[in-house]
Amino acid sequence: MKKKSLQYLRMHTNMDSVIDELAPNFLGEGYSSGNNERMPYSLFVEAVEQAPMAISITDKKANILYVNEEFSKVTGYLSTDILGENESTLSDKSTPRHVYYDLWHTISSKKVWRGTLCNRHKFGNRYLADLTIAPMLNEQGTITHFIGMHRDITQSYESEKKLINQKLLIESVINSSPIAMVVIDDQDKVILDNHMYKALVSDLDKGEPASYFLQLLRNEMGNLWRHIQSNEQGFTNREFKIDGKGNRRTRWFSCAGNWFVENEVNADAFFEQTSKQYLILTLTDITRQHRQMEALHIQTLKTLMSEDERVRSIRETLLGAMHQIQMPMNQIRAAEQILRHKHDEQHGGLLQSLQQIQESGEVAIATMQKCIPEILQTAVIPVNINQLLHEVLLLSDQRILSIGIDVHWQPLSQLPTMLGSENRLRILFKQLIDNAIDAISESECTEQRIKITTDADADLIYVCIEDSGPGIPFEKRTKVFEPFYTTRPMGGNQAGMGLVMAKEIVNQHQGFIDIDPGYEQGCRFKISFPLLRHESRRLT
Ligand code: FAD
Repeated sequence: MKKKSLQYLRMHTNMDSVIDELAPNFLGEGYSSGNNERMPYSLFVEAVEQAPMAISITDKKANILYVNEEFSKVTGYLSTDILGENESTLSDKSTPRHVYYDLWHTISSKKVWRGTLCNRHKFGNRYLADLTIAPMLNEQGTITHFIGMHRDITQSYESEKKLINQKLLIESVINSSPIAMVVIDDQDKVILDNHMYKALVSDLDKGEPASYFLQLLRNEMGNLWRHIQSNEQGFTNREFKIDGKGNRRTRWFSCAGNWFVENEVNADAFFEQTSKQYLILTLTDITRQHRQMEALHIQTLKTLMSEDERVRSIRETLLGAMHQIQMPMNQIRAAEQILRHKHDEQHGGLLQSLQQIQESGEVAIATMQKCIPEILQTAVIPVNINQLLHEVLLLSDQRILSIGIDVHWQPLSQLPTMLGSENRLRILFKQLIDNAIDAISESECTEQRIKITTDADADLIYVCIEDSGPGIPFEKRTKVFEPFYTTRPMGGNQAGMGLVMAKEIVNQHQGFIDIDPGYEQGCRFKISFPLLRHESRRLT
């Protein structure tokens, strides 16, 4: 077969130089160029013959003059079938014309062409040929032949395509997900993300959302983060509130994460396998569910607080009535004592009636005392003051909106919790905020504003509630904390007990409440609570 190839080459070409180069190998030992230092020709030809790549040599018109063994394996054509035929015999006729145009333009310009053609095997099946064609030049630099080298890359192309299709499928699945997903490498760099995640970049205005949430997760989990990372343990349901700035609303997200390890694919890791850890982070927007839960919670609180208010108003009415009766009772007691000192027998009957009035008055007071409803005990637990104030604002939002009050809510982020009664503290803040709303609605002030701030230092938590109402005159500032004192006309539920109760609740929490003497644009209540309290477990 070798001799036949060589004869064909000699008969159909003028490429004596090529034959001279190849002849010793085709004709056997002894054929030598005379240069003993050069590699034996037989070795050169055997190398081409046995090369694990389909090699063909053609004339200038692509008529095949020589093929090696691998060529026959790849194409199915033996040299007897194909010698003298054009390379176009291999064509499947589906390769676009412009590819051939480019091929011929390149090789005719004495350059090497590399590309992929669609060929047809002798027995009919198509295959993809990864082909390199190099022009062979004579001493004058003129093209005499072409050498073609190709491999069947159908399988690797199919695998590559499958991989790309899989990637596209995965991408389209994660892109259609309503949950933001992101893959982060061990340097916190985003490797892959989906459409929902991309939307968060502009929606949240927190820079790279992945870095922001990673920071929150690390802060919240502390040492646990390192532990689950090194053990590749996933996490779920880590909820975070993201405060919105400007027009952006507050949103809540539930975070979940899973680690996976990928073997490195670069050359460095070819013999020494190394791996890299990635985190798949999912961010689910739970704002809607959170708002629904909050609405439900507020509804429950409204019911609880209206019951509480009912109990308090009965208490205040009874205490007010007792207070009212007490004054004439005191006068009667004084009159009785005067008469008793005079030893005046003339007024014996009057003395007796006064005693009877007193006795029945005391019975009435005692009866009223018994009717005062109990305020239920409440548990002392760690309380988030910001959360309570937020709830109270939601409880009062209808009044605030109907009056058109501008609320400036400035909570200290990361406010520490304090031990206390949630219920009592909520009543306290509700009383102060209701007072502020009343003060604004009853005055004719142009600015209708309530500002609430929270703050803390090492020992105390501070709450400041100020309004732009008429304020409380200086001389009345201590009196407003006395029972049944009110700056408004008496009647209805204006019994003047609200601030008494507020002070009582602050006292129960070992706190301090005061009216800021330096504030003149309305009224500002300043409340402070100690952060650590050694306290019995219940407040009564
Ligand atoms: P053709 O008429 O042969 O050629 C189509 C176009 O190619 C022409 O319009 C023209 O622009 C250009 N062209 C053709 N011949 C020349 C020329 N002599 N000079 C300048 N431009 C020319 N093709 C495959 O399909 N599979 C292969 O594996 C393959 N291997 C090849 C290996 C070598 C070494 C060489 C030199 C070429 C190879 N070819 C291969 C290209 C092949 O020769 C054909 O050009 C191609 O198959 C198109 O064949 P055709 O009959 O459809 O069109």
